[in-house]
Amino acid sequence: MADYDVAIIGAGVVGCAVAREFSRYHLRAILLEANSDLCDEASKGNTATLATGNDTPAGSLERQLVVRGHQRYLAEAPSLGLPIRLVGAMTVAFDEAEARVVSEEVRASRAEGFSSVELLGADGIYARVPHLAPGAVAAAWAPEEGIIDGFSTAYAYALDAVVNGVDYRDSSPVTAAARRDGVWSLTTPGEEVRARLVINCAGLRADHVEALAGYRDLTVKPRRGQYIVYDKRARRLVDVILRPAPTPTTRGVYIAPSIFGNVLLGPTAEEVPDPDDRRVTPEGIAQLTAAARRMLPGLLDEPVAAMYAGMRPATERPEYRIIPRFADGWLTCAGIRSTGLSGALGIAEYVAGAVVPDIVKAARKQTIKPARVPSLADPNVARPWTDAARVAADPSYGEMVCHCERVSVGEIRDALSGPIPAHSLKALKRRTRVMMGRCQGFFCGARVESMLRTGKP
Ligand SMILES: Cc1cc2nc3c(=O)[nH]c(=O)nc-3n(C[C@H](O)[C@H](O)[C@H](O)COP(=O)(O)OP(=O)(O)OC[C@H]3O[C@@H](n4cnc5c(N)ncnc54)[C@H](O)[C@@H]3O)c2cc1C
Repeated sequence: MADYDVAIIGAGVVGCAVAREFSRYHLRAILLEANSDLCDEASKGNTATLATGNDTPAGSLERQLVVRGHQRYLAEAPSLGLPIRLVGAMTVAFDEAEARVVSEEVRASRAEGFSSVELLGADGIYARVPHLAPGAVAAAWAPEEGIIDGFSTAYAYALDAVVNGVDYRDSSPVTAAARRDGVWSLTTPGEEVRARLVINCAGLRADHVEALAGYRDLTVKPRRGQYIVYDKRARRLVDVILRPAPTPTTRGVYIAPSIFGNVLLGPTAEEVPDPDDRRVTPEGIAQLTAAARRMLPGLLDEPVAAMYAGMRPATERPEYRIIPRFADGWLTCAGIRSTGLSGALGIAEYVAGAVVPDIVKAARKQTIKPARVPSLADPNVARPWTDAARVAADPSYGEMVCHCERVSVGEIRDALSGPIPAHSLKALKRRTRVMMGRCQGFFCGARVESMLRTGKP
């Protein structure tokens, strides 16, 4: 029997950020994850844009928390080793009706305090994106939107939480929850975890976790988003986030540079009954290519590196579902659909602020231990193999395994150890980008698998 003040169920980006927030207090917290690695559900398949929140519903909790999340990300990500590029987002209108939509977006954004958002005419548009399809008449330009590293963000939050005292368990699905004498008992395959407060951050399965505790007032409606990832060669075509003018039902398909130098085309928005149905379909590809043809036709001539689908943890209501049930020692943090990567630090602050010190009595720590993830995409941070002194001290950092993404033996060895080690090929890929380049592991895959199995180069 373990005893905790707080148990957080789910290590997606939201649960990891919440765990990090609680690590700032003198209390005992645990983060429980069902899968063998963190960030393996909704948080693994997104566009990885850092949103300012200007296109979220005015007055909503989502807007409040995304604005705060964006602010905190800019302030805190660098010390965690996380890269950010504020490339800006352009919402483009190709006819008069769309022009009315984007100019209204600019007016409303500015009225709500997003003062850097501006309306561009054709000259301003083509100066920023010369390869854009002809015929653009107006655009909303949001220069503070950025691109980030989605996995490393969640990993950094979790690592920081663990370094600062939170216990983390992977492969620990919570399968039952019972409350006795003011304490929850959570059943996992390895142990029974006792906690005074439970925070449900279970994303796509938040309704199942709610049901374990007897709550039935939310239903997850998974919404799939398919993507095509273009080779780094395509990057010369676009260095801003391109968005079509939104319609009343969808924000449409984006074209977004990735922090790693690729170009993403997506996502679609399809309600599917099965949260694990991450198929890429012919219909999805047709929708994506039609969107590219309309906005950036040259993209279709570029080589494709990969395709994937992500799944939004939407619910029956288009809003964040943060529901305090303090009399029961339970807090629901669900329905974080489309902006959770950007909003996570805002959400975490809001959740912790709601319970400390009134529900969970704890003082803030005076000293926080630093945590940093390897920087995989920041041009200002040297990778180990470029650091002559480091290679001299440990030649494994100079021995390349993956030549596409330039990942060394030393980096793979490091990812296989540490406080939150990789136990699988996909976990290793996300921590190092090994096998994520142009050849997709054709040349290095066998060696990487052998390193994973044996721990030896
Ligand atoms: C296609 C797409 C594009 C997006 N683009 C962006 C973007 O550009 N910018 C942005 O800010 N956001 C974006 N998002 C939104 C963002 O990805 C989500 O808001 C965020 O990932 C939600 O995180 P979460 O932690 O709530 O859920 P999840 O990532 O699903 O995490 C929940 C975790 O709970 C675990 N779990 C479930 N049940 C249990 C159990 N019983 N016991 C223990 N653990 C359990 C799961 O295994 C999982 O790891 C996008 C999302 C999608 C799908």
